[in-house]
Amino acid sequence: MKIAVFSSKKYDRAFLEAANKNYNYELQFFEPRLEVKTAPLALGFDVVCVFVNDRLDRSTLEILAQNKIKIIALRCAGFNNIDLQAAQEFNLPVVRVPAYSPYAVAEHTIALILSLNRKIHRAYHRIREGNFALDGLLGFDLNGCTAGVIGTGKIGQIVSKILQGFGCKIIAYDLYPNPELSDRGVEYLSLNELATNADIITLHCPLTLENQHLINAELITHMKPGVMLINTSRGGLIDTKAVIDGLKSQKIGYLALDVYEGEESLFFEDRSDSIIQDDIFERLLTFPNVIITGHQAFFTRNALQNIAETTLANIHQIQQGNSCPNQITKKIY
Ligand code: NAD
Repeated sequence: MKIAVFSSKKYDRAFLEAANKNYNYELQFFEPRLEVKTAPLALGFDVVCVFVNDRLDRSTLEILAQNKIKIIALRCAGFNNIDLQAAQEFNLPVVRVPAYSPYAVAEHTIALILSLNRKIHRAYHRIREGNFALDGLLGFDLNGCTAGVIGTGKIGQIVSKILQGFGCKIIAYDLYPNPELSDRGVEYLSLNELATNADIITLHCPLTLENQHLINAELITHMKPGVMLINTSRGGLIDTKAVIDGLKSQKIGYLALDVYEGEESLFFEDRSDSIIQDDIFERLLTFPNVIITGHQAFFTRNALQNIAETTLANIHQIQQGNSCPNQITKKIY
């Protein structure tokens, strides 16, 4: 089995090579993203292995099918970057890693909430410059706050439980409310009700065709003044321009993003020597109450090991003709 690993970094190589000791597949690592113009690199391989910003649209999938690719293995949970309908038409099985470490993403979400609230990003620089003034660093107690969790699947559930531990009241919005969370005191509301009542809103639902720009100008009008908004899910869930307007009017008091709708052309590379052309992203960086991390919420040792092991196990199951529980066979949401 020859596997072409796209968007690969040193850490992908290390974890996949370690997991491959159980399989001995022929792994070849390509740095570029998979998209139409790089798809020919997959010629002669059996499997393409991709990550969050590889673009598997119909044209790319058509080239893969022509090149006799047998399996598409996603090294991630989200699958908004693949045209599943086209993959099915081209007879290309798609597997993913649905739960490599929901704790990794949930804990990063909490790190962002705490950093924003207690202004750790600002304090860090001040102290290094010998500035010990506290003005501008005022935070609030999380205890007693209302946190609105949008999407209460694996990650949203853990975030809810951790925040309950801080003494927050949890309200939630999900297409499929989770009875276990209701039993733990989580109250499910409509999206507008959640927006109206939450001090903190955190996104943990997948990006689908239906919920693009779920956080938009209209919903922001319902939010509490000074609300904290956190997105560690997918960039397209937020209309960034509307959120910038919200920050300027101070309707939004805090924003943390680990994902960004234009991240494809920014994240996962060192661009410190280049001039960033994305003015919307650059505007976000000018706000003192905004923290951005570059899609690193998943990035723990535990998660990378799990991703590598599950990806190769998925490929093995399909190759053996067995059913694979991680194969995406239909539209999930
Ligand atoms: P999950 O499938 O376990 O849970 C998703 C939940 O969202 C489900 O309960 C589902 O019913 C709900 N949902 C679906 N569509 C919805 C909608 N339109 N409105 C409200 N709720 C909706 O997924 P998960 O493992 O908890 O992951 C959630 C998301 O986190 C993933 O889809 C992915 O986009 C993102 N993620 C980000 C990172 C990162 O590094 N930043 C890593 C992993 C996952």
